[in-house]
Amino acid sequence: MKLEDWFPYEHFRPYQREMLEAVKEAVSTKSIQSPVLMINAPTGVGKTSCISAVLCERGTRKVVVVLRTVSQIEVYLEEIRRIREKGKNVKVSYLVGREKMCKLDKSYSACEYLRVLYGKEHEGETCPYYTASRRGRRPSEDALLDAFKLIRDIPSPDRLKEMCSRTCPYEVMRIASRDADVILLNYNHVFDEELRDIVFEWLDIDLRETILVVDEAHNIGNAISSINSVHFSDEETRDWIPEDVKGITSSDELLKRIDIDKVVEKAESDERKMKKFLKLLHSHSIVSTESGIWVGEIDPSPHLTKLVDSVSVTIMLSGTFYPLDAYELYYFGGKRADKLSLPNPFPRENRLVLVSKNATTHSSKRRKRQNIEEIKAHLEGMIEGIEGNVAIYFTSYEMLEDYADFCEGFGKRVFIEPKDAREVPKLLREFIHSNNSVLIGVCGGKLSEGVDYPRGILKGVCVVGLPFSAYTKMQRCINE
Ligand code: SF4
Repeated sequence: MKLEDWFPYEHFRPYQREMLEAVKEAVSTKSIQSPVLMINAPTGVGKTSCISAVLCERGTRKVVVVLRTVSQIEVYLEEIRRIREKGKNVKVSYLVGREKMCKLDKSYSACEYLRVLYGKEHEGETCPYYTASRRGRRPSEDALLDAFKLIRDIPSPDRLKEMCSRTCPYEVMRIASRDADVILLNYNHVFDEELRDIVFEWLDIDLRETILVVDEAHNIGNAISSINSVHFSDEETRDWIPEDVKGITSSDELLKRIDIDKVVEKAESDERKMKKFLKLLHSHSIVSTESGIWVGEIDPSPHLTKLVDSVSVTIMLSGTFYPLDAYELYYFGGKRADKLSLPNPFPRENRLVLVSKNATTHSSKRRKRQNIEEIKAHLEGMIEGIEGNVAIYFTSYEMLEDYADFCEGFGKRVFIEPKDAREVPKLLREFIHSNNSVLIGVCGGKLSEGVDYPRGILKGVCVVGLPFSAYTKMQRCINE
């Protein structure tokens, strides 16, 4: 098939065609070992359009796009709307966390409880939206109709929640996803092995017939490590972990020293976390006792290799996948992928990049008065000196809070990254329609990656500090 039949724009951006041809080739490759393509493409190359190259060659396979944040969903939905305007009949759906979509604002476990009541003696107390979505073990006509509307109209998650006036949006997403060609899932749905088995079975997805497209793929290592780890603060471990384990890094050693009776006692109050802790200890994970107790796996390669070997094709996309060889080693423990690294598409003469030599976010100097004044002077320069919208990203929420009041003092409207992801779409809509505002967020947060700022809406971006993780003992272990 021709790429042009699926590509939804008039012109390719610089290096975009090269990238899409590489994706097309990977998806059409017939080999015993499932192909993996890792792409490093800076902002501006148009990575989202890789979906058109995937669709062009997918045949009957399902496409699962794996996203880190809910705000990335709209970017992909928009791309697929455009592909459909070319006359291509692509069915798309998504699965967003139950807590975000719940009509009653219930937590996951409260919802589970209400669902259990369905069809039982206390049915009157169950969730009315769930009742309206079911007809015994099958979906109701209302839920099927809403799922049909989701596939036909491709509403954003917010809009879908409004649209489901009688039914449960989560049930509707589930029904629609079973019938979709492209399904947008989050990192946990795919990288958590236990959850993956449940979700893929629910949605009737056969892993061998799946093309995985992972966006912002530089986050995979951290995501897998945090899924396969557990942390207890000093406070939480006071009663059942002896003081003298500080400094231990071996799980076998820790296992020998902890008091099993007390562990069993603790498990009665927090069963899920304790089960995970014991499972990880028995799997010879690394232990850190720097702050409380952290037990986990720092090597994502066994998990990731198993996943990419079991699907048809994997495409990994990132704007900061550099150096690719190092990521390949980290993710697969050796050679496993084809790699493509593209240059920055913007002409050098159009880029003004300024670096401050004096301001620092190094912990030893961060709170020094002179340094704070230096950072404030640069923020003032950005906010006052640039006409139009400016985005400022800090290295942590703590830093953001330290400087938020200062950023409000220049008469521009200030949008602050919300803690609750449900508030992001509304905030982004308002920011994108403003023309002289300040957006403040956190590197690696909800507003700095995978978000589309269209039509030159941002006139300047300031990154305060180097957004690297703290160089802890754990980080040293990963590097080694
Ligand atoms: S069934 Fe749906 S609407 Fe009802 S509590 Fe659960 S998530 Fe909320």
